[in-house]
Amino acid sequence: MKTDTKKIYLSFVVPCFNEEANIPALFREIVRLLDVCGGDGGGGGEVIFVDDGSKDGTLGVLRTVADGDSRVRYISFSRNFGKEAAMLAGLQAAQGKFVVMLDADMQHPPTMIPQMLEEITSGEYDCVIAKRSRRGDPFFRTLLSNCFYRLTSMLVDVEMIDGAGDFRLMTASYVEAILKLDERNRFSKGIYPWIGFKTKCVEYENVGRAAGKTKWSIFKLFRYSMNGIIGFSTKMLSLISLLGIMSFATSIVLFVLLILRKIYGNVGVDGWTTIVCLIVFFSGLILLAIGITGQYIEKMYTEIKRRPHFIVRESR
Ligand code: UDP
Ligand code: MG
Repeated sequence: MKTDTKKIYLSFVVPCFNEEANIPALFREIVRLLDVCGGDGGGGGEVIFVDDGSKDGTLGVLRTVADGDSRVRYISFSRNFGKEAAMLAGLQAAQGKFVVMLDADMQHPPTMIPQMLEEITSGEYDCVIAKRSRRGDPFFRTLLSNCFYRLTSMLVDVEMIDGAGDFRLMTASYVEAILKLDERNRFSKGIYPWIGFKTKCVEYENVGRAAGKTKWSIFKLFRYSMNGIIGFSTKMLSLISLLGIMSFATSIVLFVLLILRKIYGNVGVDGWTTIVCLIVFFSGLILLAIGITGQYIEKMYTEIKRRPHFIVRESR
């Protein structure tokens, strides 16, 4: 099996976007882990930082870190391609028998890794997820995340676990499976459950960012959610058909009622309000339908172009 031929034991994959303030501290933690658990099974470990087109001194910090330690490699993109692209680049480069992916901002506590390694080396699981509890999050943020999560999981065809993100330790076969999904509109939260395998969750207390601020805005979250919904189900298209059928049925009832009223009722020249309401309602419905169809077409368009997921400007 391919996994057994891996020379490196543990690979760390860290996507970084404007994280100059966080990398040194994170790297110190990682080195400690490399020394403790990178050695079993022979081969030691490696660290792959992916600089996702940072505008601050991230690349400089990575060069320095790589100069000082031969176990460190980095990939630097020509511009910001997004976390999904950064994770993909890291996973493609990782050579370990086990691969752990974590954020650069210390929100994925590296201290969880020994416990995760213990679980995965039992051989029972292909992936161990460190799942964060939402305790301590600001109320509005929790509410928003819950709404996005509920909406997305209702509309996609895969089973997502709330709070299970990208902080996970994976076997080489698991990583290989992820890499087989070559879509441009990547949505990892859907890819993980789609590939299957045996997964175990361990929980950790929520921690705030060490430094800097989150790159997620409400707009970005909405886009990400839409990406997932469209990428992992065609339910939205069925929804349009359902809306169409429902409005068609309503219109038939309305026709019958109006004709009966015309024949038997005493109708003057009223009905202006009804007509305006109907026009506005159906124009809205039609635009919504075109919009949703357009979203699918947009995704097809970007898939068909088959542009690379990212462009590397410098790597080591
Ligand atoms: N990140 C990235 N590219 C981006 C945005 C974020 O590589 O375009 C990285 C970021 O440096 C961090 C991780 O993805 O290591 C998570 O980002 P962030 O902390 O902003 O997200 P949050 O923790 O708020 O979900
Ligand atoms: Mg974060």
